[in-house]
Formats: sequence, structure tokens, C-alpha cells
Amino acid sequence: MGFTPFNFDPKITAGIRSLGYSKPTPIQLRSMSPILQGRDVLGLAQTGTGKTAAFALPILQRLLSGPRNVTRALVLAPTRELAEQIHEAFRELGRQTGLRSLTVYGGVGAGPQVSGLRAGAEIVVACPGRLLDHLQHGAFKPSRLEVLVIDEADRMFDMGFLPDVRKILKHLPAHRQTLLFSATMPDDIRGLAHEVLRQPVTVQVDHTVPLATVSHALYPVVEGLKSELLARILQQTGNSSVLIFTRTKHRAKRLAKRLHDEGQDATCLQGNLSQNQRKAALEGFRDGKFNILVATDIASRGIDISQITHVINFDMPDTTDAYTHRIGRTGRAAKTGDAFTLVTHEDEAMVRDIERRLGARIERRKLEGFDYAARPAQPAAHAHHRPGHPGPKHARGGHHGAKRAGASRTGPAHQSTHAEPGSNPMGGFRGRFGRLRRR
Ligand code: AMP
Repeated sequence: MGFTPFNFDPKITAGIRSLGYSKPTPIQLRSMSPILQGRDVLGLAQTGTGKTAAFALPILQRLLSGPRNVTRALVLAPTRELAEQIHEAFRELGRQTGLRSLTVYGGVGAGPQVSGLRAGAEIVVACPGRLLDHLQHGAFKPSRLEVLVIDEADRMFDMGFLPDVRKILKHLPAHRQTLLFSATMPDDIRGLAHEVLRQPVTVQVDHTVPLATVSHALYPVVEGLKSELLARILQQTGNSSVLIFTRTKHRAKRLAKRLHDEGQDATCLQGNLSQNQRKAALEGFRDGKFNILVATDIASRGIDISQITHVINFDMPDTTDAYTHRIGRTGRAAKTGDAFTLVTHEDEAMVRDIERRLGARIERRKLEGFDYAARPAQPAAHAHHRPGHPGPKHARGGHHGAKRAGASRTGPAHQSTHAEPGSNPMGGFRGRFGRLRRR
């Protein structure tokens, strides 16, 4: 079934066509009719399912008629990147509608945002902190608001934004349509949904299971040989678009530097980057200037780069939800992707949890010709810290890094260029990798 049954205006159909969408994704199929009817919707869907267009298309349709030059739709998103991606989707899909979308987030000058808000952009896509500032200073006047979208609500909660969201809600007209999207449904989000949604239609698409278009594989290895094994895996992936996850921002930074030093087009996305650096990394990865992006969970939230072909977990994530989210970055919108995870014996319990979640055993792979018995370049204990066994504080990827990575209220974060004292989690990478690359 195509988009015909939804009766979108030809101006919107043109946008759908220009993006090459031939048929709605499951979340779009199930949520667009109730949204078009003006119903509140609770959407349980992760990024990668097409949820942005699921709300953007009906919103554009609604805004085509009625007043212009006033803000009528507000989308709240947890990170700047996600806000930019949603804005892009509105721009592309609504190119022929003449409707304007504006992004609002911290870390950049407020001036253009104030002008855009005063000019009455019909659609505002915002991170909560900076929007609250604009509300308090009177630049954002939501009295004509008709639709509110709360996107990635669980991430909003993770990053500590729910109090700001609640403050914003107090300023919005009570009579409105509200759509709430979340990949998971922790109690706080259930509570929020109960507060803000009126007789919602609940739409759920496989939110607990990674996309079926992804093939998963585990690469058992000792900690000290991870870097070398990664180098070999990267040789096999060729000129692909590879997203690599590490447990901490320090490991991300260091790994990206090593890869770059050894001639790979690699960059990193982690909490210590300024807004401009984050943008350059993301855009460079999207445009193909970099084919490897090393990221932490938090810094990667909301990344929407549809051509990612491989996700590699250099470090096992801490939770099955995090695994689902990481893997959700590949195999987007029915493209296929590969998800590789380097696992040490300490990861066994998490592997079992993930297999239970998937309902299937994940293939274990051994790389032909790789010397698994080689002497590790570093002791395994150095780099790996499981939850419940916290390592040195500086080596943990915690909530503070998280908040800085996506926070919309703080200015550009301090960029750290110093080497982490004490440990050398990527120990031995340079020499071994260098030899491999020079062949
Ligand atoms: P999202 O879950 O909104 O982040 O969307 C994930 C990716 O799927 C984005 O790159 C969208 O452009 C793409 N997408 C959304 N809807 C469709 C569709 N109906 N057909 C093909 N691709 C789509």
C-alpha cells in the first residue's frame, strides 16, 4: 500500500516523492490516520522506524490550511542533532508548502532564534532548555499552538529534561493535539503520557527488538586484542559507513585518533566537542568525508544517517536497550546492515540478556587467520568496567558526560585535548594497526 489512502495534498505528496518513499513504514501506516483525525497518539517506536515522517506528514497537512506566521506546531527533542534531523524532515517533506520550520537549541547564538520566533515560524523544533529561556523572555509565544510532539521521551527523561518539559507544558494551550513518541516506556514516561495525552491511540512497532533488517554477530576476543581485531574487521568492511561505539568518551576520542593516525577517514562524536565540532563530525560522516564515526551512546542519540552499513560495538553496551538503540542506527528503513560486537568473557551475562531479547542466538564469529593467542598489548583489567564494578571515575561514561553531550542550555562544552592520565585503553593499537594498514 502506498501513501494514496491518506489523501495528502499534492504539495506534500511531492515531498514524499522527492525523498523516494514509495510506501509507508509500519509506524506510519498505523499512526498517520489517527494523527490526521486530530487524535492524541502514544507511539512506541525507536529511531529508524520512520517515526519522524509519521508525525511530520500529518502536521504539514494540518498546517496547510489555517493561519500563517504564527507557531502552530512544536516538536520537543532531547538533542540538537535530533532537532536538526526533524527540522530537515519538515523542510524536505514540506518544501512546496511554504510552511517554515525553525530549530531552537542551546550552544549557539539566541539572536537568529529570537528573530525566527518573532517572525512566526509555523513549526518550531526545540530542545527544552533553550525553548524555556525563550518562553521566559517572551520571544516564544505559544498561544496559537495546535500540535505538540514530544519525541524520544525516554531520552528526554534520561538526560534530565523532564522538569523543563513540564514547565513548558504549563505555558501551552490546554486545547491541543499531543503526540508522544518513545522507544521504551519507563514509569516516568508512562506517568508523563498519562498527564499529557487525552484518550490516546497507542501505536507500537517492535520497540523492544532491534530491526529485523540487521544481521548480528559476536566476535569473542580478549580485551587486549580488541584493537587489533577491530583493525582486521575494518579491513573487511571496505569503504563502508561504520559507526563504532565505545563505553566512554575518552575511549571514543582515542580510538578515533588512532584510526585517523593510521590513515582511516575516522572522526569521533563525544561529549567534549563544541557544537561546531559535533556538526562537522556528523556532516562529514553523512557526506562520506569520514567513513568511520566513533561515538558514545549518549553523543550518538538521535543520529539519523540512513546509509550506515555497520555498527561495531567496540565495547559491549551496559543494557539491552542500549544495544537495541545502537543497532537501530543501521538497517534503517528496511535497508540491511551488520551489527558486530567485540565480546570478552566479562560480557557473557549481557550477551545472554541480548539473546533473550532477540529471541535468537547470535552467531559467534572467528576471524580467519587472526592470532587469537597473541600476547595482549595490555592487561584486560585496565580497560573494562562492568556496571556494579565501577572503575576509576574518569573512565566511566556517566550521566554528566551525557548531559553535556546533548544539553541544550549549556554553551559549547570545553574541548579537552589532554591525554587521559594513568590508563591506556587503546594500548598497542598504533603499532599493530600500523603494520596491518601498510600491507
Ligand atoms: P526516523 O525513524 O524518522 O528517524 O526515519 C529513519 C529513516 O527512514 C530516515 O532516513 C527517513 O528518511 C527514512 N524513511 C522514513 N519514512 C520512510 C518511508 N516511508 N520509506 C522509506 N524511507 C523512509
